[in-house]
Amino acid sequence: MKVFKFGGASVKDAASVKNVAAILNEYKQEQLFVVISAMGKTTNALEEFTNALYVDLALAEKHLETVKAFHFNIVNQLFENINDKVFTDLHNTFVELDWMLDEMPAQAYDHTYDQVVSMGEILSTKIVSHYLNHVGINNLWIDVRDFIRTDNNYREAKVDWNATELLFNSNKENYLNQQNNLCITQGFIGGTSENFTTTLGREGSDYTASIVAYLGNAEQVTIWKDVAGVMNADPKKFDDAVLLPHLTYHDAVELTYYGATVIHPKTIKPIQNKHIPLYVRSFLNYHETGTVINDTPSHNAQVCFIHKPDQLLLSLSGKDFSFIVEDNISNIFAVLASFRIKVNLMQNSALSFSICIDNTSKRNTLIEQFSKDFYVRYNEDIELFTVRHYDAEAIDKLIKNKEVILEQRSRNTLQLVVKTN
Ligand code: ASP
Ligand code: MG
Repeated sequence: MKVFKFGGASVKDAASVKNVAAILNEYKQEQLFVVISAMGKTTNALEEFTNALYVDLALAEKHLETVKAFHFNIVNQLFENINDKVFTDLHNTFVELDWMLDEMPAQAYDHTYDQVVSMGEILSTKIVSHYLNHVGINNLWIDVRDFIRTDNNYREAKVDWNATELLFNSNKENYLNQQNNLCITQGFIGGTSENFTTTLGREGSDYTASIVAYLGNAEQVTIWKDVAGVMNADPKKFDDAVLLPHLTYHDAVELTYYGATVIHPKTIKPIQNKHIPLYVRSFLNYHETGTVINDTPSHNAQVCFIHKPDQLLLSLSGKDFSFIVEDNISNIFAVLASFRIKVNLMQNSALSFSICIDNTSKRNTLIEQFSKDFYVRYNEDIELFTVRHYDAEAIDKLIKNKEVILEQRSRNTLQLVVKTN
């Protein structure tokens, strides 16, 4: 089997859904497992709905109306017959969200978030599945929560691989078989052993595709995107960005780790473990080959640029002129872990420890927390550039007219923290 993943942008309106059908029509002879994200910006809209549930139910209702109108508008364009089963199916799905408007949630925010936000993927897959049947592309809608089992760390749930493998294997004959060679399922979501819904972290549908590929020993995974493939830099920021026809798993992991957003960082590991190639292709120009990511070594690796704007550089030092040693460092990381903050770069000297992180709303409480044990200095209005396979020319080009405040080099990777102009 092959695994395909379609993200929110590929199903953002009726024309896009038709385009997905056109792509799938070309693969009618193959066994396909298709993973789909919520349509367009639905996840953000459902996040706003969730936030409103805790403060203002009337506002929440407005947000929900917007989400409904968006989906029904798409469905109205895809189905002429108002008696089509898709309409009842969507109404029934929305009933679960309507119920939430009865009273403010008693459950913790993260728990509610997952029960609500996951509906974006339920809706999108129902619409796509009905539409494909409607145009003669027979398929089976599968609830991914039937086999992706996670812990109950809501919003960042961890896959229980043993349980997930058992569940998948005991169901797989019902998924792809003589009668059916196309399955449609949700990205981003999973379920706990108590049957609550969890999510795997924002933009997690790529990861789902990789989990499914691992479970089904897929021959390949394709992530269909609105770009030609993986580029050596963000074309919106670098006008000479080029397409990378090939990447090693190793480079792909490094690039996503440092902030390349083209694929979710967790995607590579499961497929690398089974040597399953990953294709990144354009759903707009779907005959182009895009990028392949696999085991084959690269001989002349391309310079790659990753830019992370809006960073915060924190420097922590002991209050009594003490050394920064292992136990302070482990305290620092315990704090970062409790805030679920990822470090983009770190550097230490005898007396201070510096970290570069995304500048988010958690900043003030984080600084407060660190200030209990350390003197904290920080720099804002800075950005981070990471250059893989750097050379002198790449560095010159990058630092021209920029004030570099921190630099770090390994054999393959150069990181520069620079002032925002
Ligand atoms: N719909 C989810 C999100 O927007 C998952 C995904 O798109 O991959 O984060
Ligand atoms: Mg998305």
